[in-house]
Amino acid sequence: MKEDPAVSQPARYWIRSPTIWCEERGRFEPGLILIGDGQIRAIEPIATAVPAVDAVIDLSGSWVLPGLINTHVHLEFSASSQPLADFEAETAEERLLRAAGNAHRLLTSGVTTARDCGSSWIMLALARRPDLSPVMLPRLLCSGPPITVPKGHLHFMHGVVHDHDEIRAHIDRLEAEGGRSVKVMASGGQMTPGSLPEETVFTQESLNLIADEARRRGLPSVSHVLATESIRRSAIARFDSLEHCAFFERDGQGVIVRIFDPEVASVVRDSGSAMMANLSTATRYLDGLRESANRTSAESHSLRQFDIMVENFGKMVELGIPMVCGNDAGVRDTPFEDTWLEFAWLVKGGLPAADAIRAATSGAAKALLIDDSVGRIARGYSADIIAVASDPLVDPMAFRHTTFVMRAGEVIRPSP
Ligand SMILES: [Zn+2]
Repeated sequence: MKEDPAVSQPARYWIRSPTIWCEERGRFEPGLILIGDGQIRAIEPIATAVPAVDAVIDLSGSWVLPGLINTHVHLEFSASSQPLADFEAETAEERLLRAAGNAHRLLTSGVTTARDCGSSWIMLALARRPDLSPVMLPRLLCSGPPITVPKGHLHFMHGVVHDHDEIRAHIDRLEAEGGRSVKVMASGGQMTPGSLPEETVFTQESLNLIADEARRRGLPSVSHVLATESIRRSAIARFDSLEHCAFFERDGQGVIVRIFDPEVASVVRDSGSAMMANLSTATRYLDGLRESANRTSAESHSLRQFDIMVENFGKMVELGIPMVCGNDAGVRDTPFEDTWLEFAWLVKGGLPAADAIRAATSGAAKALLIDDSVGRIARGYSADIIAVASDPLVDPMAFRHTTFVMRAGEVIRPSP
């Protein structure tokens, strides 16, 4: 994999701020960050004398943090009110252009690392040759087409498998084409016509094989789990990350409802898997419904289920399940600039602010198996650094406006 040449410049400079995020202590502390060759070389006391030849970026008055990590986006999707129709109407080339633009939007909003959780095969070009992109990109970990069953969730991305040989062949191809994450659709999904979200579609043996194959190759594994049984099986298979954990069941009236299962939740807790809750997905649409005077019963149902989702998230937090920040950007009414909104909802849903910061930095890096080099302001880590104008420990909306973005030592958005 080639790195964007613009991102590896040899400059050596310092960032000074009285408020720099310290992962270990879970608070902001004064310091000077020395950056060289795209990496953090040292953290020195703020009073340290800087050599006159070195440049200094003064971020006093800003809160300085590692670049945000969004663990779940779909770069090819339009984030409109009808992303599937847009996807089907566009050619592969058009989607690739869209994907680069969406990735750039993530970067300028402060997301310096993103995982794509499902795309066509062609989009892996962005993972292989980020140096060819006409716009600056965040670090991308691409899952390529999700592994799915015939007619299963997102089958039109061409990740359909029929047996274990095809699962191995899929992961071989994924790795060869630049994929750096293995995604499976363990249940159906709401976006794919004909696929049932409350249905678990892979056996325990198949899920074990997928997670084991990913582990063997050092790739992070991620499982889409809406149905309760799909959560259980994926936790038993020890996927690095479980997406949504919706606890979907179909009730007597044929309506899909969220029924929290404490026993399955404890299986998740014991598995060590992280959870990606995407609480903020489509909240702009839901906010509109909340203000509407004459809602349909289906719309009222959606609002009730949203409240239950946030409640269930609080229960998972109480169990101590590690949370990671992802928002399914690209799906319905979920723009690529909105990672800040997921942070705000994580806090609203009961995650302490320091843990929400970890969910979007060090914790997310851990679920992506890159925590030895990404997600902290520490010596030897990639110089992915952002600044915001208010204290995220106090202000859940702090990430709405980033005032400075650096990716691997390259200033993407200079401080005003
Ligand atoms: Zn998704």
